[in-house]
Amino acid sequence: MSDIVLEAHDLKRHYEIRRSMFAGRASLKALDGISFTLKQGQTLAVVGESGCGKSTLARLVTMIEEPTAGHLTIAGTPINGPDAVKSQRRTVQMVFQDPYSSLNPRQKIGAILEEPLKINTAMTSDQRRAAAHAMMDRVGLRPEYYERYPHMFSGGQRQRIAIARALMLNPAIVVLDEPVSALDVSIQAQVLNLLADLQDEFNLAYLFISHDLSVVRHVADQIMVMYLGVPVEKGGRDDIFDSPRHPYTRALLSATPKADPFAAREHIRLTGELPSPIDPPGGCPFHPRCPLADQRCGETFPQTETVAPGHQVACHRWRD
Ligand code: SF4
Repeated sequence: MSDIVLEAHDLKRHYEIRRSMFAGRASLKALDGISFTLKQGQTLAVVGESGCGKSTLARLVTMIEEPTAGHLTIAGTPINGPDAVKSQRRTVQMVFQDPYSSLNPRQKIGAILEEPLKINTAMTSDQRRAAAHAMMDRVGLRPEYYERYPHMFSGGQRQRIAIARALMLNPAIVVLDEPVSALDVSIQAQVLNLLADLQDEFNLAYLFISHDLSVVRHVADQIMVMYLGVPVEKGGRDDIFDSPRHPYTRALLSATPKADPFAAREHIRLTGELPSPIDPPGGCPFHPRCPLADQRCGETFPQTETVAPGHQVACHRWRD
């Protein structure tokens, strides 16, 4: 049996929007053709600035929204209608960025953890309580917290609660949407270590969404760098950190603290804002900000090319 649990093929999500009272309608291409596979027990990190399409991808993978085009296959099931969505709903769970707003303040921790079981299983209340206590133990929450409310906890503990809730239905895939970026740096490592332990124990596949390559360095097996709704570079963690080929990846890395402060690294400063996905630049979408852009970059969209096995880049000048 294949150990691929998630497969996306040329996924697109476009939104029809009205520009203004007088201008016509326009298409906002939040995601414009993205393909990848994710295996059990592995982490694919999706990296890019806010507005690059990461959150749209999370909504498609969690089946909150349907793609406009392309195919999604989850645990071997093509997601092609309500029955398929229903059958795989439990397979994919999500942990959100903000542990302060993602937990119902009126529910006690025990009720928060048991709710997915109540809705999706025929377990008795005793069984649900036992399962909640077992998961609390697993994520490092004390048994007495069962009767407490979310506001009584710190950000790190709330994120442990959110992780515990995501795992109650024994998912195969967890989408982690910036799971530590709202936490103090001192707490981030604890939560990342917990996620790594849980991944080993339950053989979980993580789709780890982040704007921060320094966090991704510690968790990713594979990395996909996105810009304006398209992947610009994909590869193993070492490919991306040791031999980045796309100027955008190199610019993101320039802004990331180095593991070895004495190691040489070029400095590419990212200037300007991310352009609007309603009117993306022609040619290479990165060309208005790219220090290497030449005439061809403004005219022709770069095709994805293979740099080395498993390492792909979409840039005319990746050899330079
Ligand atoms: Fe820069 Fe051109 Fe490569 Fe785009 S195709 S990243 S503009 S060099």
